[in-house]
Amino acid sequence: MRNVADGVEVGTDAGREVEDPATLEVVDSVEVCAPEGIDQTVRAARAAFPGWAASGEDRQAALTRVSAVLASHEDELAILLSREQGKPLAQAYQEFRGSRRILDWYAALADADEILRETPEERVLTKLTPIGVVGMITPWNFPITILGMKLWATLRAGNTTVIKPASTTPLSTLRMVQLIAEVLPPGVVNTVTGSGAVGQHLASHPLVDKVSFTGSTEVGREVMRAATPGLKRLTLELGGNDPAILLDDVDLDAALPMILRSAFHNAGQVCQAIKRVMVPRHLYGDVVDGLVTLANESFVVGRGLTEGVTMGPVNNFAQRETVRGLVADARKRGAIVHTVGRRIDADLPGYFLMPTIVAGVEADWPLAATEQFGPSLPLVAYDDLDRTIADLNAGEFGLDASVWGRDEDAAIDASLRLEVGQSFVNTHAGPPDPLIPFGGVKGSGFGRELGLQGLEEASQLRVLKVHRASVPATVGR
Ligand code: NAP
Ligand code: MG
Repeated sequence: MRNVADGVEVGTDAGREVEDPATLEVVDSVEVCAPEGIDQTVRAARAAFPGWAASGEDRQAALTRVSAVLASHEDELAILLSREQGKPLAQAYQEFRGSRRILDWYAALADADEILRETPEERVLTKLTPIGVVGMITPWNFPITILGMKLWATLRAGNTTVIKPASTTPLSTLRMVQLIAEVLPPGVVNTVTGSGAVGQHLASHPLVDKVSFTGSTEVGREVMRAATPGLKRLTLELGGNDPAILLDDVDLDAALPMILRSAFHNAGQVCQAIKRVMVPRHLYGDVVDGLVTLANESFVVGRGLTEGVTMGPVNNFAQRETVRGLVADARKRGAIVHTVGRRIDADLPGYFLMPTIVAGVEADWPLAATEQFGPSLPLVAYDDLDRTIADLNAGEFGLDASVWGRDEDAAIDASLRLEVGQSFVNTHAGPPDPLIPFGGVKGSGFGRELGLQGLEEASQLRVLKVHRASVPATVGR
C-alpha cells in the first residue's frame, strides 16, 4: 500500500511486509521511505500550510466532509485494521467510530478569541493560531484511535501533518489517509512509512514545527532528543503501569468485572489498562477467585475476524515474548499463574497468548513493576495504604490510577494522592471522550490531547493589541 504526499499516492508498495498476527500471512507491504522522500513530503505539508491555516470555517467544512468519507468506508477500514492489528472486528469498528466522534467534536468547534480588555482606548485579545507542520508518530495498539486523538485537533487548529504509523500496523492509517486526501486540499495530511529511523528523520526535520508522539517512554526520549535542536513543540504520550487500588470497603461485585475488562481489553495492549491490582490482604483470596471465575467465562481467544472472538493475538512476536518472559519470571519467583478463557482457531500459528491472572506477586517483581503490555494481570496483596501509595508514587510512570471503595470521599482522597494524569474512582479509563483531556505526568509524558486543551496543545497563543486612535497616545511619560 502506498503513502500519500501532496494529495496523491507516491512511492512504491514494496519494502516491508505487514503480517496478520493471527495467521502470519502477509496482508500487504509498505515502502521504507528514504530521507529524500520524507523531505519532499514535509515540504508538501509546509507548502499547504498557509492555505489550510487561512480559514477556520473552511476547515470545519472540510472536516465534516472527511467524517462522511470515513463513515462510508467503515467496513473496508475496520477489516483492514483487524487483520493487521489482530483485534476483534467489533473493536476495530469501535476505533473508527471513536475516532469519528472526536473528529465531529472538533469539526463543530468554532474559532473563539478571548477578549482580555475592551475599552474605548484599546482592544486586547488572544487567539489560537496554528503552529505549522506537525509530525505524528503512532504505535500499534490503537493505530486509529491514537491517531484520531492527535490528528483531528491538529487539523482543526490549522496545522498540516505528516504521519508515521507503526511498522506492524501502517495499513489502516494509509488507507484512511488515501480516502480522506480526496476531500482535503493537497498536502494537508501526508504519510511516511518505515522503521524508527524514519520517525527520527521526521522528528528532526527543520520544517517540522511540532512532534506529537505516542509510544514507549524509551522512544519518547529519543524523539525529544531529535526535536531539541529545532526547539520544536512536543506532545509525548508514553507508557503507563496503571494500578487499581482496592480499599477495604470495595464493592467486589461491581469492581471485578470492570477491572477485568480494563486489564484485558485489546489483549492488555492498552496504555491505560489496569496493569496491576493492589488488594487488601484480607480480601486477597476472594479477589483471586472472583477474577479467575469471571475471566474463564469472559474470554474467547482467536482470530479477530472470527465470529465470537473477544480477544485476538498479541500484535507482534517481540511483544508476545516480552509478556511470556515476565510471566515466566513471576512463576519462577513463586507466583501462581491462572490461565483463563477459551481458545478457538487453535490451528492458527499466530502470536496468541491466553490471558493469565497471576497471584502471589510482590510489588517489586518485574511483572508488576514494569509495563507488561499484554494479557496478564498481577495481583499484589498490601497491608498499608499509605505505604502502597508512597511506593506507587516512587515509580517511573504517571498515567492513571484508580481507587475502588464504597466510601466515595475516602476513595477520592486516596486517588488524589497518586501522581498521575487521570485519577479514577470506581472506574478506570474507558474509550476516549472528546470532551475530556487526556495525558500523563512523569515517565508517562506531557501535554494533553482531546478537549479544548487538545486544541490549545495544537496551537500557539497570539496576542493582538489594538490602540484606538480617537484617544491620543501618551508620549514622554
Ligand atoms: P514504540 O516502540 O515506542 O513505537 C512507537 C512509534 O515510534 C512507532 O511508530 C515506531 O516505529 C516509532 N519509533 C521507534 N523508534 C523510533 C525512534 N528512535 N524515533 C522515532 N520514532 C521511533 O512503541 P510501540 O512498541 O509501538 O507501542 C507500545 C508502547 O506505547 C507502550 O509502552 C505503551 O504504553 C505506549 N503507548 C502509550 C500510549 C499513551 O497514550 N500514553 C498509548 C499507546 C501506547 P516502528 O513501529 O517502525 O518501530
Ligand atoms: Mg517498538
